[in-house]
Amino acid sequence: MTGTACSTTDLCAFAGARQVLSRLRTLSAHAPQSLVIEGGTEADRTTAALAWAATLNCTGQPEARPCCQCAPCVQIAQGVFLDLKVFGGESKISTDEVREALPEWGQPPRGNGRRVSIFLGAHEFHPAVANLLLKTLEEPRPGNVFVLLAPQRERLLQTLVSRSFVLTLPWPEPKAAEPDVAEWLAALLHFWDTGQGWFERTGTKGSADRALALRLLSACQRELTLAVAGNTQHSPAAKRLARLGPAGLRRFDLVLGQAQEALNQPTVMPALVLDWIATAMIAKGSA
Ligand SMILES: [Zn+2]
Repeated sequence: MTGTACSTTDLCAFAGARQVLSRLRTLSAHAPQSLVIEGGTEADRTTAALAWAATLNCTGQPEARPCCQCAPCVQIAQGVFLDLKVFGGESKISTDEVREALPEWGQPPRGNGRRVSIFLGAHEFHPAVANLLLKTLEEPRPGNVFVLLAPQRERLLQTLVSRSFVLTLPWPEPKAAEPDVAEWLAALLHFWDTGQGWFERTGTKGSADRALALRLLSACQRELTLAVAGNTQHSPAAKRLARLGPAGLRRFDLVLGQAQEALNQPTVMPALVLDWIATAMIAKGSA
């Protein structure tokens, strides 16, 4: 039913959409003030958040929402709906942006549905932004709902998660890293276990350029996602990472984030960043 109804827009085009949309419809009867959407790919999460906004504002038959044909549905799919606010994406969310929205969140929505405020990349919130949002959620905001998108709930401030309903999209299929990156990743994990073989690798002139370092970071990020989700059966690297335990995985996430920022600075040598990743995790006990 919904599969065909949505053919004119892409609100239904994400992994597991059929099941997820049915859950969103059920949830819309008593819409939680804050919804965390985890799992899936970044695009899946964004589409699911828009589908949630459409479900809450659709004027079609309740059992067929989002109909994807009424004015609210079409406008939400196009990102031009008056009661839809999307934060983040290209640039990090600032406290100023959130403060500017406070008066509006004190008002009911302009239309007959709900005002939906979506926060993309909520796992990258600056702590000040997370705290401001937490304060916002502590007050009743009639007619307003909030949606926080993150790869996993563990990467959000715990107090934000505990104030939210969590919707988990199907986890993406693990995608293998390219052979050269896989070899670097294996060497990194081997170094954690044995203390051997890493510096020879990064010390070889020209072996670790910025492009490789960035690809290795994203491979680490992917394995981290699998390890946090407990989805390790197809990946020895994720299995090894899982042994870090929750605190170690969180630390690895922070280390990867800092490494990413360092690599964005043109004066920083990629090999040094890679050495730092390798030793930062060893120093804090990786066994
Ligand atoms: Zn509709």
